[in-house]
Amino acid sequence: AGLPEIGRARVLASTGQVFEAGALSSDAGGDAPPTHTLEIVAPQGGKAVGQLQLWVDPSYLYQQILANTLTIAAGYGVFTALLCLVVAWMLRRDLQQPLQQIARFAAELKPQEISRPLVLDRASSDHLDEIDLVTQGFRQLQGELQSHIANLDGLVAERTQQLEKLIGEVHRLSITDALTGCFNRRVIEERLPSEIERARRYGRPLSVIFADIDHFKVVNDTHGHAAGDAVLRDFGSLLLGQLRNQVDWVARYGGEEFLIVLPESDLADARQAAERLRERVGEQPALWEGMVIPRTASFGVAQCGPDEGVADLLARADAMLYHAKSEGRDRVEVSG
Ligand code: GH3
Ligand code: MG
Ligand code: MG
Repeated sequence: AGLPEIGRARVLASTGQVFEAGALSSDAGGDAPPTHTLEIVAPQGGKAVGQLQLWVDPSYLYQQILANTLTIAAGYGVFTALLCLVVAWMLRRDLQQPLQQIARFAAELKPQEISRPLVLDRASSDHLDEIDLVTQGFRQLQGELQSHIANLDGLVAERTQQLEKLIGEVHRLSITDALTGCFNRRVIEERLPSEIERARRYGRPLSVIFADIDHFKVVNDTHGHAAGDAVLRDFGSLLLGQLRNQVDWVARYGGEEFLIVLPESDLADARQAAERLRERVGEQPALWEGMVIPRTASFGVAQCGPDEGVADLLARADAMLYHAKSEGRDRVEVSG
């Protein structure tokens, strides 16, 4: 009964005596039949001298079970925690750090350094793991991006070139008279003031000639508008062909009237130029659908005065043209 696991012990001797030790409460099974019953045999053998009845103390057993359970649970807990720590450390080393490096690299990568190689700070191994696959994929993406950017650069350069060409063409069209190929009136308004300003600043002469086809209306009335257009086209190219250098220029002022601007030409030069033009026009009749259409033109010439503006200069040249018309046409009249 002194053992902690024994709650109560009873010896029933064959003589009828009862010896009892230990006190097990009735709650703990004190009223229940004994847990173990042993026959006590005499040392020399033979008849049993009594019976030993034992009651196990269940609270002691429960305590033992609880203590063992706690010990095992604590052991497993410590083991699991250690395992988790090791796994976390491995995950951090093999996954988190490389992934963070890749993420940082991707965030810092600039288009101009797209070819910078992705190098990870990790021990090299013989076999390819998932991080190696991600790295390989990233490098492949870089390569494809690089060639895509190179293609784009080429494409942008090509498009820019096309655009510049188109802009040049649009500009040319915006300053060209569609029918005759001469400049249009816009150029007179934009360019003549600066031509006059430049001539004045450098003390150089500048003259203008108004040229107008004589009795042009008759061409339209006799041969039709299309014939009139052909004559106009022909007249325009004759004027363009007769310009002496890159300095002189001609613009269609309106209808069948053209303005020729002669920088670096004084009145005498301009008169000479106008006479030459008048002769050429008279010599070369226009041809249209097998028909020869004779034509003449009248010219009004003026040299820009020291303080003269565009409007006054053009008005004087126009007055000379009007004068040439009233004097019988096919003439050159010079202002001043
Ligand atoms: P003048 O000798 O006095 O200059 O007589 P003109 O007939 O040449 O001049 P007028 O001003 O009387 O007539 C000009 C004509 O030019 C009238 C107009 O219909 C014609 N015209 C103006 N622009 C064009 C054009 O683009 N094409 C054609 N076919 N005719 C035009
Ligand atoms: Mg006319
Ligand atoms: Mg006219």
